[in-house]
Amino acid sequence: MHTVGSWLALARQRLAHHSDSPQLDAEVLLCHVLAKPRSYCLAWPDVNLDRNTQNTLDMLLDARMSGMPIAYLTGRREFWSREFLVSPDVLIPRPETELLIDIALALLPASASHRVADLGTGSGVIAITLVMERPTWQITAVDCDINALRLAQQNAQRLACPPITWRHGDWLKPLQGERFALIISNPPYIAADDVHLARGDLRFEPRHALAAGPTGLDALQTIAATARSYLDNGGYLLLEHGYQQHTALHALLQSYGYRNLLTHRDWAGHPRVTQAQWILSSHTRNDA
Ligand code: GLN
Repeated sequence: MHTVGSWLALARQRLAHHSDSPQLDAEVLLCHVLAKPRSYCLAWPDVNLDRNTQNTLDMLLDARMSGMPIAYLTGRREFWSREFLVSPDVLIPRPETELLIDIALALLPASASHRVADLGTGSGVIAITLVMERPTWQITAVDCDINALRLAQQNAQRLACPPITWRHGDWLKPLQGERFALIISNPPYIAADDVHLARGDLRFEPRHALAAGPTGLDALQTIAATARSYLDNGGYLLLEHGYQQHTALHALLQSYGYRNLLTHRDWAGHPRVTQAQWILSSHTRNDA
């Protein structure tokens, strides 16, 4: 029979060669199963674990040792200080994506009722965070995977956020005839043969949410090309991208007639998010 303390010691040891953060992983799994805050593990090392708890923990430990991401094992990940449900149907939200939120909040005035589209919403973190920070904005969230959309709706319900319009389909296709002040997306942007896809958490995440053609630019290109007909005059396109893609993305956006391109760096100093504006002029109006 294990106690809290002895199971943590064992798990830490077994995870040592399978995880960059064995202690943290062990604590997160234990506290998830016990439904206790992390401080509990430190405060109560002598508490005995019952047989059921121990069986569940063994199963989770084995899964973690085979590489399964912690977020899929607990079914949860924090984003913008809120807890979101995640599953293998969706990308695990990354801290870099909080930069998209920061920029979106600064781009449009807070109080107006702007229309915003989030393409490839996944677990819904972008759409839900935006509508919770800006309840007057009218947000439409799109995903091509119905299971992802269901999970996003479940997150919206759990967090009791203002209403979001949910659409099933590819990128802008389900938004025919609509116009937005902001189109935002964290699309797949990894090159299909990138070695990172075969490492760490990425092995377990949906491939269609990560990889996008030989250069990783396929989804970004599709969105950039089509978003023009869905943006208000002066509307913004805001895209997360790979840290070596900003030059290629700028060239693409310029070729499609976007103006005022600006790339923002993430906390690691990598160019990560690019904003562009769609401004109608006599030249662009014809090919819009
Ligand atoms: N930033 C993620 C990674 O490189 C990828 C997310 C994405 O493709 N949108 O792990």
